[in-house]
Amino acid sequence: MSKEDTMEPQMKRWKGSACHAHSWVAYPVLSDEQSQDVELVEAFAVPIVDKKVTSRLVRELNSLYPLDGLQHIKRVRARKDRDSPHPLEVLVCLASEAPEVKEVTINSLLPPEAVGREGLGEPFTVKVPARPPLTRPQFELASRHWPTSFHEDKQVTVALRGELFSPLQKAAMHTYMMSAVTAARAGRESGMEAVGAVMVDPVTDRIVAVGHDCRGDHPLHHAVMVCIDLVARSQGGGCYSFDGYTACRFTSPEWNTADSEESSQPYICTGYDLYVTREPCVMCAMALVHSRIGRVFYGTASADGALGTRLKIHTQRDLNHRFEVYRGVSRTECEELYSSDTEKDHF
Ligand SMILES: [Zn+2]
Repeated sequence: MSKEDTMEPQMKRWKGSACHAHSWVAYPVLSDEQSQDVELVEAFAVPIVDKKVTSRLVRELNSLYPLDGLQHIKRVRARKDRDSPHPLEVLVCLASEAPEVKEVTINSLLPPEAVGREGLGEPFTVKVPARPPLTRPQFELASRHWPTSFHEDKQVTVALRGELFSPLQKAAMHTYMMSAVTAARAGRESGMEAVGAVMVDPVTDRIVAVGHDCRGDHPLHHAVMVCIDLVARSQGGGCYSFDGYTACRFTSPEWNTADSEESSQPYICTGYDLYVTREPCVMCAMALVHSRIGRVFYGTASADGALGTRLKIHTQRDLNHRFEVYRGVSRTECEELYSSDTEKDHF
C-alpha cells in the first residue's frame, strides 16, 4: 500500500524552511580514538651540532633503536629558534628503551661501537605522541610536541569544521528533520514520548518511512524501531502494524514497479539516511547496525544515547557494520520537543 499521497503535503509545507538551516551545524560523531587527547610518551633526544653527521646518525640509530610502533614520528627535527647553538635534534629512543643507569648520558645511550657520537650534544628528555594522529586537531596538537606525519582524511577535516554539507544540502536535511519533529509531536499527542524518525533514500531524495515513538503500546516500539519496521514493510516484510497512527507511514520503493527482481532489493536500510530527533538508545543503535543503515543524523543528545553520549555503537570495530553519525541537525526544533518533557533523560 502506498501512502505517498499523505506524505506530499508535509514535504511541501517545509520547503520554505531553508533559512532555518543556517542556525545549526551538523558535527560528526567520531570514534574515541579520533576524539581523544594526544597521548604522549617520554623519549630521549640529542642535539645535532654538526649537520653533516645527520644521515649517518639516522641510519645507525634506526638499527640500534628502530622505534617500533612510532612510524608516525619523524626522527629529526629542526630547531625553530635561530639563536639555538645547534640546528637539529634527533630522537634517540623511548625512555622505556633506554639503558637503566642513574644518569643518562650520551655515553650510556649510544654505545660507541653502534653509533658515532661526534657532532652530538648531551641527551635531554622530550615528550612525543604515542599514536599516529587521526584528525587534523590531533595532528596540530601532536606536532607541537614533536614533528609527526599525518595521513589526512579530508572529509573528516571538513566535517569537523562543520562545513561538510552545503547550504542546499542543509536545507534538505532540515526539511527531513522537520518531518521527524512533526511525527514526534503527533506521537506526543497520542500519549507517547516525543521522538520522531524519518528514513530517507539519499539517491532519490525520497522519504521512505516516517515513524514516531509507540512504546505506550509496546515497550520496544521506540521511534527508530518503528521506522525500521515501516521500511521493512515497504519492502514486503515488517512485523508490526502501525495503521492506527496516521503519522507513521511508508512509501513503496520505486524498484517495486521498475524492477521486480528480488536480488535488486536493498537489504532493509542499506544506503539510507535516518533523521531522528533524539540520539538513539543502544537497542535502536543495534537495530540500525543490523539493518545496515548508511548514515544517521540526530538533533539532540540523550543521556542514554548510544551514538555519541554513552556509547559509540557506530564506531565499534568488532561489529560487522559501521556508519557515519552527525549530531546537531535542526537542533533548536529538536531540543524544543524535550524542553518541557520531564522525562527527557528516560529513553
Ligand atoms: Zn531506542
